[in-house]
Amino acid sequence: MADSTFYQNRECEYFPCHKSANADRFSCLFCYCPLYTLGDRCGGNFTYTETGIKDCSNCLIPHRRENYEKILEKMDGVIDLARKKSP
Ligand code: SF4
Repeated sequence: MADSTFYQNRECEYFPCHKSANADRFSCLFCYCPLYTLGDRCGGNFTYTETGIKDCSNCLIPHRRENYEKILEKMDGVIDLARKKSP
């Protein structure tokens, strides 16, 4: 099942990659969360490891269809990070 806000790849060996998730509602569209680079401003359910690595293991925000618009709304912040900065 796929549309512009939802996609599944049940052939993936990791599907669903969050084992506590409901497989029928699990979207692979944002397999790698585009908000990761926003650090502590992503709005998700993250923790940091002892070595300072952001850990998203407990976050299902990008894997739910109803959060599609929420992800897109935050993309301005991601685009801004990539913008050429004035010296
Ligand atoms: S998966 Fe969740 S915690 Fe991780 S970057 Fe995306 S929104 Fe933030």
